[in-house]
Amino acid sequence: MVIGDHDEGEEEMMVAATKPVWLEGLMSETFFSSCGIHESRRKSEKNVFCLLCCLSVCPHCLPSHRSHPLLQRFESKVQNVNITI
Ligand SMILES: [Zn+2]
Ligand SMILES: [Zn+2]
Repeated sequence: MVIGDHDEGEEEMMVAATKPVWLEGLMSETFFSSCGIHESRRKSEKNVFCLLCCLSVCPHCLPSHRSHPLLQRFESKVQNVNITI
């Protein structure tokens, strides 16, 4: 499943109607800020969002979320969001 900026009206309406909890969490999260736990480590940008925990995590936090549905944000210039389950 891929959520992009494409114009699939039906799909977007469904998302808006159900408004999943993780989406609200996603909206309120700031991506690419550094992880509070791993801020001293390199590459601690929180660029992955865990749909189960409803929080964004850095690559160092990722191992504990391996079994969770994850949504990965790539470079900020790329506007697409891919869900990798
Ligand atoms: Zn971390
Ligand atoms: Zn998680």
